[in-house]
Amino acid sequence: SATLTLMAEEEKKTSDIERASLLVKELRECFDSGKTRSYQWRVTQLKSIAKMVEEREEDIVTALLKDLSKPEMETFVSEISMTKGSCKLALKELNHWMMPEKVKTSMSTFPSSAEIVSEPLGVVLVISTWNYPFLLSLDPVIGAIASGNAVVLKPSEIAPATSSLLAKLLEEYVDNSAIRVVEGAIPETSALLEQKWDKIFYTGSKRVGRIVMAAAAKHLTPVILELGGKNPAVVDSNVNLQVAARRIIAGKWGCNNGQACIAPDYIITTIDFAPKLIDALRSELKEFFGEEPMESKDISRIVNLYHFTRLKNLMEEDKVFQKIVVGGQIDQNQLKIAPAILLDIPEDSQIMEEEIFGPLLPIITVENLKDSFAVINSRPKPLAAYFFTDNEKLKKDFVENISAGGIVFNDTIVHVTVSTLPFGGVGESGMGSYHGKFSFDAFSHKKAVLYRSFKGDSSTRYPPYTPGKQRFL
Ligand code: NAD
Repeated sequence: SATLTLMAEEEKKTSDIERASLLVKELRECFDSGKTRSYQWRVTQLKSIAKMVEEREEDIVTALLKDLSKPEMETFVSEISMTKGSCKLALKELNHWMMPEKVKTSMSTFPSSAEIVSEPLGVVLVISTWNYPFLLSLDPVIGAIASGNAVVLKPSEIAPATSSLLAKLLEEYVDNSAIRVVEGAIPETSALLEQKWDKIFYTGSKRVGRIVMAAAAKHLTPVILELGGKNPAVVDSNVNLQVAARRIIAGKWGCNNGQACIAPDYIITTIDFAPKLIDALRSELKEFFGEEPMESKDISRIVNLYHFTRLKNLMEEDKVFQKIVVGGQIDQNQLKIAPAILLDIPEDSQIMEEEIFGPLLPIITVENLKDSFAVINSRPKPLAAYFFTDNEKLKKDFVENISAGGIVFNDTIVHVTVSTLPFGGVGESGMGSYHGKFSFDAFSHKKAVLYRSFKGDSSTRYPPYTPGKQRFL
């Protein structure tokens, strides 16, 4: 029976690969026809996506309730309205983005003119994740369409309701000769990764990021990797404590209960200030989620048993468990974990080794706030770094000394809403960026075009190379 299973798996693999290969062939034919390049096609598709989100809000809310028990308000703010916002911005700016950019030329080409022309890359693959399964699937797809590509989306199987909704909705609303959804898990994704793409845009873990990049290397396909990391939030003692506490809570537990790539992963503050900060966090947590956070409808559950167990183990490691100072109740039946704050856990505990991606918030204390820089820099570069302070000198030092995908002062996570800022990681938190015009650029080739005329032809550049000519140059 083991041989039979193996044979069945091999057969499935072959058919997955054949299907993926056929799909890419179809989409490439469509791209080669030139259809997706036209401004009109792009606008029509983007309008359809905006319409789809508008008309199917209820279905989106229901899918996210199923996948994550995501509060309706959170779904509206971070999935529905951000997706709509990306569509609207692309529709408003597309004409401008598509325009060739005139640039200066050099003396050696005089007379000439030059421009940078944005051209679509071709057929691109978007592999998405489960925590913001609607937004993080469609946002890159919007960029790919805006820049005139054919695109395949592979949503995450870990958010199955949203994955199947996306498949259904895109089939209904957009041009399927150029925009397709492939649902599935590792076998289906692996089959897609064997194909030759013109770009792969991947959101997810570092581990799979490495698999994606290795597969892309075989075809010299460029990648954008939107990964994660341990995002620090440094808190100074001169802050407006209530506002700081609220904004830390909003970015941690108010965003999918910590299952967000830019959620603060751990806090660094001074030994003296830590008790005050903890009191403020405790009292604001009560304000937001009530006396019994496990009963609150305003907090997402953990996505599945695997992640629930992973988080439970992080919290229940011997040397860590005794350090819980707030919350941490768990309910395996409902996959719920209440917001938990941990103080002064040992540096070598697992919770300080890996990205938490859940409702646990360790606080590390330092003698002097400036010592936080060394703590941050001893780890791989994070996707986001937060600093709550009114000290202008420290702000300047933080920007100069801390390398992170993005930095926010006196708040958390809101930089995602600023479409004029690129969103993406650095080092192990990822490569490449998107949002706003950066999404358009992410899926475009910047073609250098130089226009020369036949006038002003100088013999200086041509042989015979006499000493006189060399002196002239
Ligand atoms: P994941 O890597 O397990 O899964 C993401 C995608 O990869 C899914 O579509 C899945 O089907 C596919 N996949 C999984 N295993 C694969 C394999 N062996 N071969 C090929 N494909 C495979 O990641 P995750 O658990 O969904 O996401 C969590 C991580 O994502 C966290 O680190 C988080 O910080 C990061 N993240 C980053 C961003 C960002 O914008 N930078 C956003 C959300 C999440």
